[in-house]
Amino acid sequence: MYQSILQIIDKEGNNIYTLGIDIGSTTSKAVILKDGKDIVASTIIVAGTGTVGPQKAMDEIFQKSKISRENIDYIVATGYGRKTFKGADYEVSELTCHAKGVNFLFPEVRTIIDIGGQDAKVLSINAEGKMVNFLMNDKCAAGTGRFLDVMANILQLDINELEVEAAKSDKPVKISSTCTVFAESEVISQLAMGVHIPDLVAGICESVACRVASLAKRIGIRETVCMSGGVAQNGGVRKALEKELGVTIAYSEKAQLMGALGAALYAYDKLN
Ligand code: ADP
Repeated sequence: MYQSILQIIDKEGNNIYTLGIDIGSTTSKAVILKDGKDIVASTIIVAGTGTVGPQKAMDEIFQKSKISRENIDYIVATGYGRKTFKGADYEVSELTCHAKGVNFLFPEVRTIIDIGGQDAKVLSINAEGKMVNFLMNDKCAAGTGRFLDVMANILQLDINELEVEAAKSDKPVKISSTCTVFAESEVISQLAMGVHIPDLVAGICESVACRVASLAKRIGIRETVCMSGGVAQNGGVRKALEKELGVTIAYSEKAQLMGALGAALYAYDKLN
């Protein structure tokens, strides 16, 4: 082991490069880490498991970082599609990786709310970044990114425009249907009635927040709370969740990369 690490160090002039790839239902994310602490490059491809997304993410990150596959010392795959991905040295659950990624950027966090393309998870973690408990909703699209994607499509808005629209609202419309299919009809009839679009968007964000908040309340909120996953980028959902839970939510622009970052950190730990 000692010898093999020395060989690794020799190869790239004292640096150890690890790669984490997070293959989700909707997107593929990759991070390259230098010496277990510096993010050299990252990428997000909007295509998940079972598509060309994972391979594209690998190609793009090698191109961006100008580091070739041969110079990466260890690769860890995580996410929903990790088991079918052939390009990694090891695979680890996304729960472990999100906990590790978040702990690296926000050591004070004890509760993580991870909302992805098809599920939502609430994780309780300890000071070492190890998960101690979790709850998940993967049965229903309401309360996930899928709900927002469907609604953005109806409103003919780009997914990243939802935040801007929600911020203009002073009277969010309540979406009463808990099922995505019924909520879709409800939104269409609100549109037909000429409702103010920002109020509708804010109501949609509140609906997601309300579903996820009930999951979070079941596990028990321990501060500091942080959001990870793609939906964290939607300030409308973040704000609505803060209101529902009565806490401030820590957020990083790297929220969607937390799983890939955690996997790259895990890869570094494996080498050591
Ligand atoms: P998964 O890992 O399950 O593939 P992600 O954590 O990558 O999912 O999250 C994907 C979801 O994030 C999408 O369904 C979309 O709703 C949301 N999303 C992606 N980009 C943005 C953005 N720029 N602004 C708001 N929401 C976004």
